[in-house]
Amino acid sequence: MISSSDDALRFALVAHDARKDEIVEWVGLQQTRLSGLHVFSTGTTGSRIKEAFPELNVTCLKSGPLGGDQQIGAMICEEKLDALIFFVDPLSPMPHDVDVKALTRLATVYDLPMACSRSTADLIVQGLIDEDADERV
Ligand code: PGA
Repeated sequence: MISSSDDALRFALVAHDARKDEIVEWVGLQQTRLSGLHVFSTGTTGSRIKEAFPELNVTCLKSGPLGGDQQIGAMICEEKLDALIFFVDPLSPMPHDVDVKALTRLATVYDLPMACSRSTADLIVQGLIDEDADERV
């Protein structure tokens, strides 16, 4: 498991516009588990999460369409992330569709846990955060 300098797990959280409300709701449900994490988010997703949960440690990158997804891709290949949660909108075409494909490819190359749906995100959180907490006890 990769640890940052402050030893907290590092999760990237991203959501397309149609699923931003959902990721904010999901963060609310997982707030206790996410509270010890360092979260990296694309600009708009991160702003929404910070606004709703100012106590969480959230770093906002550029907005996704302006390169934020690619910044997350760079973090994956530099092995600076422990997981990527990307609530993708599968029903709308968008100019940066290719970024999702690129992130999926990099997550596969680096064997990074990646979730595009809520149920898989729950499993990642349970698997990584609870396991990390157990190891620290
Ligand atoms: P955003 O980017 O959080 O800045 O909207 C997400 C995306 O569409 O990739």
